[in-house]
Amino acid sequence: MAARNRNSVAPSPSSESQMTYSRFLELFPDNDACLEHLKERFFSDGTECPKCGKASKFHRIKGRSAYSCQYCGHHVYPTAGTIFHKSTVSLQLWYFAIYLISSTRCGISAKQLEREIGVTYKTAHRMFKQIRTLLSDEEDGPLSGKVEVDETFIGGKPRAAEKRHKRGHLRRKYKPNVLGMVERGGRVRARVVPDRTKVTLDKAVKEHVLPESMIFTDEWQAYVDIGKGFKAHRRIKHDARIYVDGDIYTNTVEGFFGLFKNGIRGVYHSISAEYLQNYLDEYAFRYNRRNSNEPMFWAILNRVQKGAVPAFS
Ligand SMILES: [Zn+2]
Repeated sequence: MAARNRNSVAPSPSSESQMTYSRFLELFPDNDACLEHLKERFFSDGTECPKCGKASKFHRIKGRSAYSCQYCGHHVYPTAGTIFHKSTVSLQLWYFAIYLISSTRCGISAKQLEREIGVTYKTAHRMFKQIRTLLSDEEDGPLSGKVEVDETFIGGKPRAAEKRHKRGHLRRKYKPNVLGMVERGGRVRARVVPDRTKVTLDKAVKEHVLPESMIFTDEWQAYVDIGKGFKAHRRIKHDARIYVDGDIYTNTVEGFFGLFKNGIRGVYHSISAEYLQNYLDEYAFRYNRRNSNEPMFWAILNRVQKGAVPAFS
């Protein structure tokens, strides 16, 4: 193998990292480079000018975060409508935050983000919240095939009276609030749900899983009719201490819950119920891309969209 050129920022061919820090710096050395990246995304050459309608080239206006149409001079703002718009944090720090979030396997805390990029905790927390809004899986389409479904309770401590019950029983005592659905060998979907009643669980599963799917659950009574509207339904008898019976098991979805719980214990320590769905989205996003060749950094950046922010004149 050829000796590595120590001046090169290219990752070593054996490196698993697809987006190294040096590569990041090479691509995004300053705010202008980040703005140019957004401009290429939303106003690349040949994009129709929102004002004159011609396929235009947009040229940077010196000293401003804007570009102008080559024909009518109309100003366009690449950050308008995105999470970066009107932020007091520089665009490069936003990109760096996305880099940090995507380069760690288990996520980083807002506290660490605060230290790494030198903003206040409040700002770091807000940035995190904004970046997580990009990770939602609503548009990825429903799950299908063999789908395991299970619920769990996240957060809170058992009361003494509940501790006296046996372990399996205890789980029933808790008010679980997360429903997990996993395609075997595929994607996960996790949702905060208000309760674990039949009505709630039926509705949520129908919303996220295609009818031709085969559903696997445990024996929780709310699942009794969940097979209606699906190809088939199989239940594993956890209460009889059976955890795998042929291909009847819910270990995959339980595995996801395990990852999630370990993650929030180690990285976030405690999370408020208000943001639970956002954390679930982040974990699901990582999980769903575990076999993807697209680095998470680009996957997140590719989700930056222009929302319903009023256009500038
Ligand atoms: Zn124009």
